[in-house]
Amino acid sequence: MQVYPGDHLAVIEEFEPLGDYYVDNGQIIASKVSEVKKDKTNKQINVYGLIKKYIKIGDTAVGQVDYVQKPFAHVIIFEVNDKKLYGDVKAMLYFDPVLRSVPFNEGAIIRAKVIGLTAGHFMIDIQDNEMGVLEAKCPYCGGPMVKRGTNMLKCLKCRKNSYMKLAPDFYSSKGRYINYIDLT
Ligand SMILES: [Zn+2]
Repeated sequence: MQVYPGDHLAVIEEFEPLGDYYVDNGQIIASKVSEVKKDKTNKQINVYGLIKKYIKIGDTAVGQVDYVQKPFAHVIIFEVNDKKLYGDVKAMLYFDPVLRSVPFNEGAIIRAKVIGLTAGHFMIDIQDNEMGVLEAKCPYCGGPMVKRGTNMLKCLKCRKNSYMKLAPDFYSSKGRYINYIDLT
């Protein structure tokens, strides 16, 4: 549900508010144009600043591959144009299903270009040179990997090679993102 500044969302006795809001006379009120989700089980109300309007086609997004379901990967975007987002934004990435291996693994952090919006999902792409995997753990053992040539990684633990479409600044073991994202 989309709400506008000043809209009454709920009564504070009924829900625990999260996100952008203020409370006036026991009423939870939206402070900006927001997306609202009520979680009746946990009695929480989430008020997210409306990020979908903030993301544009052509933007550079950073996110984590949630799961892969050929020929799509579902990605949770948490940063756009170097700015962190409130809450999760879901995006889908189409990849060529004839590829012998998927160009990243689940849990990988990727940089991608926003190329469209279809059925409420952002479509992203990693074909451009500067796009691709920024960080990933070994698909076989979860160990740290280092770059070994174009789009090739080698695990320091199990020594296996993995093909991935890498961003030119692939971080290897110096995790900027994986450090603060729980991959378990
Ligand atoms: Zn490994």
